[in-house]
Amino acid sequence: MHAHTALPTWRALISDETGARLFVSADGTHWQRTGTTVPAQGDTALACAPDDTLWCAFHTGDGALYVCELTARGARVRHRVRGPDTHGRPALAWWHGRLVVGAVSVEDALLVAVGAPDALTLRSAHRTARAVEGLALAATPARVHLAFTGTDSGLYIASSDDGITFDLGWLEPPEKPVGAPALSAWGPDLSLAVRSEQRSVLLALSRGRATLEAAQVGGGAITAQTPAVVLDPEGVTALLAGTDGALWCARGAPDELTFEPVESVAATGPVSLVRSRVGEPTGPARTVVRPVLFFPCDVPVDEGYVARASEHIAEHLAVAQARYRRWLVTDTFPFVETIVVRSARTHLDYKKGDAFWDIFREICEALGDCDATSTTAYLTFFVRPPGFEDELWLGAGGPSTEGSGMALLDGRCILEDEPYPMQSTLVHELGHAFGLPHVDAWGEDLDACDSVMSYARRHHTVGPSTPDPDAQFLPEEFDLLGRNEVAFPNFAYDPAIHNPTGRPLRPRIA
Ligand SMILES: [Zn+2]
Repeated sequence: MHAHTALPTWRALISDETGARLFVSADGTHWQRTGTTVPAQGDTALACAPDDTLWCAFHTGDGALYVCELTARGARVRHRVRGPDTHGRPALAWWHGRLVVGAVSVEDALLVAVGAPDALTLRSAHRTARAVEGLALAATPARVHLAFTGTDSGLYIASSDDGITFDLGWLEPPEKPVGAPALSAWGPDLSLAVRSEQRSVLLALSRGRATLEAAQVGGGAITAQTPAVVLDPEGVTALLAGTDGALWCARGAPDELTFEPVESVAATGPVSLVRSRVGEPTGPARTVVRPVLFFPCDVPVDEGYVARASEHIAEHLAVAQARYRRWLVTDTFPFVETIVVRSARTHLDYKKGDAFWDIFREICEALGDCDATSTTAYLTFFVRPPGFEDELWLGAGGPSTEGSGMALLDGRCILEDEPYPMQSTLVHELGHAFGLPHVDAWGEDLDACDSVMSYARRHHTVGPSTPDPDAQFLPEEFDLLGRNEVAFPNFAYDPAIHNPTGRPLRPRIA
């Protein structure tokens, strides 16, 4: 790793007719120009590497797409991105130690490249989607997200867990979006900004994994360019190039952004913005499973129940830990004692489908954990009022980042094995929290497959017991667990052991 002079927290590229110049700021409101420029034609994209080096993507006048590192003392060697000709706003993110660059072809098709800066080749990211004037990218450890305005004036978010295959979702903005959006991620949250036909700023924010909803913000602030946006725990920071050439800065909670002109910095062209990664909190080096008894405010906390439940949970986790040790041999998960988290909401407030990530976020907030950098897999038991029998969930699990996630179970299963057996559900939902999909993602029968990640009833348990014969993992699942270096740092996928027949690993289809 070469030495570099650290740049202040906020970094922006502002383009004019001659290129793009790097501006820096310690607080996001007072900006300083540097001597660093790139020969960009139009829009640029910025991304911060895990070691806090700053990278940009830009088109030159001849239409070629480049990535290069920017320092306080200038731009380093630039690398040409191979593939079809592209145009418009490029996109850039760092993901799993690799650079992800996005751009649209001259036919407006979505193209993405993933790799080392000097080995990037653009490939089609979606068969049919067409984007207007460019793309935006944002990465969380679990997924990489792509945003664009479609040629049908729809606003789209596509996301991928491999950087190759993107699933399409869309938003319904209150005004017609114009041009490419900007996108930023913090933990499982995303913020998207785009300008509208009326030249106001449309800003969308996801809370947890809820659907993004666009809302008009900025009461009167007008923008001539795509707003540049960054999401962090303090809210949203946006830089706007106004129609009068002034640079505007907006900060705060998404629904109460305040806009102020930035003194002595003009912006006649596109602006891109990124935040330093220095100072992001970090959790333990590896994932720890933390059981949580989650009490809605209308369920009294019975200390006797908490003590009995905690004892059962520890027994079950010891069995599950031993099973993961038999499966992985060189590793298993550590776990800690059960804690109680009290919610301010009633149990029926969680009756909607996206409650899963609301609960994850509430637990992070209650425990002072940071959802973007957490290394905890929360094993959450939702405790219901006595006598309440409706099933609100069948049990659920999912990864938030590479090292964190949540498994959510109905609290009744701890003592009663109802509405499902605790032990078999526990190992399955923890599998989701560690990043595994269901077996049908590999083309297997969900009800018949031998894997932990199926619904096969022959794996069901009574009490903290192990089924005989025990469930297994598929070679594809061992491969995924081996790639989760935060959850299982001591486990590596070995084809000779985990795929003894040597069959090709199947691509993920769901
Ligand atoms: Zn499942």
